[in-house]
Amino acid sequence: MRYQNTPVVLWSNWRLKTAITKTFISTNMCGIVGYIGNGNVYDILIKGLHRLEYRGYDSAGIALVGNDGNLKVYKAKGKVSNLEDYCKDKSLEAGVGIAHTRWATHGEPSDCNAHPHYSEDGNLALVHNGTIENYKVLKDALIQHGCKFHSETDTEVLVQLIEYIKVKNNCSLVDAVREALNQVVGAYAIAVIEKDHPDTIVAARQSSPLVIGIGDDETFLASDATPFVEYTKDVVYLKDEEIAVIKKGEPLRILNLDNRESTIDVKTLELSISQLEKGGYPHFMLKEIFEQPITLRDCIRGRIIEGGAKINVNGINDNKDIFLNAKRIVIVACGTSWHAALLGKYLIQDMCRIPVEVEYASEFRYSNPVLDDRDVVIAISQSGETADTLAAAMIAKRMGAFVFGISNSVGSSIPRETDSGTYIHVGPEIGVASTKAFTGQVMVLTLLALGIAQLKGTMPQEKIAEIGEEVLRIPDYVEKVLKLNDEIEHLSLIYTYARNFLYLGRGYSYPVALEGALKLKEISYIHAEGYPAAEMKHGPIALIDAEMPSVIIAPNDHLYEKIVSNVQQVKARGGSIIAIVTEGDTEIKNIADHVLEVPAMPECLTPIITSIPLQLLSYYIAINKGKNVDMPRNLAKSVTVE
Ligand code: GLU
Repeated sequence: MRYQNTPVVLWSNWRLKTAITKTFISTNMCGIVGYIGNGNVYDILIKGLHRLEYRGYDSAGIALVGNDGNLKVYKAKGKVSNLEDYCKDKSLEAGVGIAHTRWATHGEPSDCNAHPHYSEDGNLALVHNGTIENYKVLKDALIQHGCKFHSETDTEVLVQLIEYIKVKNNCSLVDAVREALNQVVGAYAIAVIEKDHPDTIVAARQSSPLVIGIGDDETFLASDATPFVEYTKDVVYLKDEEIAVIKKGEPLRILNLDNRESTIDVKTLELSISQLEKGGYPHFMLKEIFEQPITLRDCIRGRIIEGGAKINVNGINDNKDIFLNAKRIVIVACGTSWHAALLGKYLIQDMCRIPVEVEYASEFRYSNPVLDDRDVVIAISQSGETADTLAAAMIAKRMGAFVFGISNSVGSSIPRETDSGTYIHVGPEIGVASTKAFTGQVMVLTLLALGIAQLKGTMPQEKIAEIGEEVLRIPDYVEKVLKLNDEIEHLSLIYTYARNFLYLGRGYSYPVALEGALKLKEISYIHAEGYPAAEMKHGPIALIDAEMPSVIIAPNDHLYEKIVSNVQQVKARGGSIIAIVTEGDTEIKNIADHVLEVPAMPECLTPIITSIPLQLLSYYIAINKGKNVDMPRNLAKSVTVE
């Protein structure tokens, strides 16, 4: 059985490439806005784009059809304000328009790759959120029919295909859209406008959100209701495989891909703007914690096939000899990514029997490192722009090492500057304290280790298949762990006023302890230290008293009995203990003050699961203390300075 795949975008030998795959899942990134009505189209669209900025994006664009029948497209890399600057001296009169903030998946962020995209004859303009998985096949076919492409995006295929069908069949825009979408595999929310019909928007969705706002003599369209919440509360949520025909002066029509009319189900919006942006969650951090089942599915998809038996990480497949012959792997990273890196060391050493060193990028770059062309250096950065990590990667490259990047941001500096690498595919992370990017990084490192082990034959195939199968279940385990939310919220009340915390773990749980402590420090400003549990007796044990809680990560792994002793040592000194244990645990349950149970799984996979209760604990403690969890003081999301 083949498991579902998403487009696995990777960069290899300096060039972005895309693997074509089969199915898809919704991505919650980028933004679409559309408007038809008597208001100022440009102003409404630009304001709408600003409202969608929270979703994360790398470029923006707008298409307007003037009452003179002119279709104009303006685009700019970077912020919406760049687009506004660009538009200052342009003709902006319009009766209808669509706009977009892009979060690149295919092709780097650039003016050219930004949306909207024109069709070849300039009659249509289209915006798209999502990924078209069979775009390569469609693109090749269209090229054979004489079509020329101007961008590297998967999206351009849609607009060219719609135009091709429209001309060939001499049909209406909506018929061409329907026929085109019947040929498309992937996730999309699209909006299309046409030069000759300045009164119509055709929109459709499959797995990416689109909502229509119905006002008095005006209609809005957007990825969520934030762009139009002040104009109307009457909304229609487009469903998968539905096509909306929004025509000035006419009631909204919705058809499905079989051309059957759907009934229009108008709902009333009850949420405030800020709630809407955060998908109903009070903070981005909580939203991102709860997104992890989806982001991990996105991250895994396509990379484990044959039911778990085959690990398919293209960054490795393309560079087999390099990984086969690597004499050492050095991982460079900062902050949370450094904790993921440490887990990477445990995973790669365990599974691949290659020595691994983990370095703080800021230290590595000034440490006169010893490297040569048999070293592989892995550089990890969520944003792909972390200045120290980028500098470390460049030094490694100059010294002849093969540099492999792990990032979340397509087209960012690390993907551009490294020899090869892979994306974590977790969507934009807005909360400054990293959560879903951490679990995504750990997941990619796990797959990398499994992939290299398979290549080198350092692990029995049955074992790889067994772990691979469990990896596929991780999103379900995460869903289960998230059910601890209420219990953790309650627990947090007991510990809100602690002034210090100790986080302890052994083996795979040691980096989790470091990450748990960092999360607490970052957002609650409580001093917390992560420590290997056995090292405690060489110092930190002196700190333990009734006012010093310890969070102990103690899943049922090969060090379990050892950590039980460490738990006893803390208890014997009057410390209170919150323990993360495996379901069914009896020993630690009898000693600890509070236990949080997580599902049983192979030892190497526990970090992804055990880190989630720690994310929630730090979130709730910070909330209880009234802190701004999404924007903690003194911290920046993307650290582009030394
Ligand atoms: N796949 C499209 C691109 O890379 C759309 C990405 C998005 O959702 O913004 O241009």
